Amino acid sequence: MLNSFDYLCPKNTQEAIQLLLDNQGGEILAGGTDLLPELKDKSTTDKVLIDIKKCSDLQGIEKQDDFLSIGALTTIREIRLSNIIKEKYKALRDAADVFGCLEIRNRATIGGNIVHASPGAEYGTPLFCFEAQVEIAGPNGSRVMPIDSFWFDLGRVELKKGEILKRILLPKIDSQVPSGYLRLSRVKGMDLASLGVSVVVINPGQADKREIRVAMAAVQRTPYRNSAVEELLSFKGIDSNLIEKAKQMLAASIAPRESSLRAKPAYKKAMVGVLMEKILKNLHIL
Ligand SMILES: Cc1cc2nc3c(=O)[nH]c(=O)nc-3n(C[C@H](O)[C@H](O)[C@H](O)COP(=O)(O)OP(=O)(O)OC[C@H]3O[C@@H](n4cnc5c(N)ncnc54)[C@H](O)[C@@H]3O)c2cc1C
Repeated sequence: MLNSFDYLCPKNTQEAIQLLLDNQGGEILAGGTDLLPELKDKSTTDKVLIDIKKCSDLQGIEKQDDFLSIGALTTIREIRLSNIIKEKYKALRDAADVFGCLEIRNRATIGGNIVHASPGAEYGTPLFCFEAQVEIAGPNGSRVMPIDSFWFDLGRVELKKGEILKRILLPKIDSQVPSGYLRLSRVKGMDLASLGVSVVVINPGQADKREIRVAMAAVQRTPYRNSAVEELLSFKGIDSNLIEKAKQMLAASIAPRESSLRAKPAYKKAMVGVLMEKILKNLHIL
């Protein structure tokens, strides 16, 4: 049975920020799919749950001049149903397709996925590959920072006292930017990723201008891009020798923890390049 907690439901983000400042043990509640199981397990009682679901400025997917704005409260289902995400940011759609189950996708939010900062979280690698930024609202206004500075360690993000993740900003895409995400998990159906890979290809039509970005999940404490592999694959044609070299470099660049419940390091090393190659084939780059 869940412990009883104080529960507050602010009407807007400013009120939520004030409640975070005023309440020792105040914790943001979005979809609750990470937080509530954790609170149940820890038998904690000193928390004050601050439910942000009524904060309208944290909701919705919106095209803006220079970027696509995804509110922190956007659910995985909303991402899955979004046409602009399907057309321009396909890796985010792929992640939604394999995420949990219908009930979880209806409640879980992209903001909660990022702030929880699990190494295998579905939204790490696509957002790292698109070089997303995050906007944070706090007592002194808003600030924007790159996702890979925000998400800096296992379970840890750059949020100070009284701050709330407001939205995710994806760079505007005018031309074709093919992207994809694949993951491995232990069971078909519902399980967290034992390994995840995203690939984003900038300028796909011209090999000499083509930039290939590759990010991996569940291989270290945070989502991870290897610049040497990206340099090897970018700005030139790719043949099977180059791909084999890239796969070897990817495997050598990761040191997954032995204690993972979901997959052994040797398996992750063997499969990480296979997933990358498969995505490149799906995107017709190979
Ligand atoms: C059955 C099940 C299946 C799952 N399957 C998957 C899966 O396939 N892939 C996957 O990646 N995850 C999965 N998860 C984990 C979870 O659903 C996701 O991480 C989800 O995106 C968390 O979002 P939420 O809105 O539920 O977050 P919450 O549980 O509400 O919050 C998570 C944490 O983030 C904080 N937080 C939330 N929003 C904000 C904000 N805007 N600003 C500041 N802090 C905030 C909360 O205080 C809390 O610490 C699964 C969970 C369950 C229970």
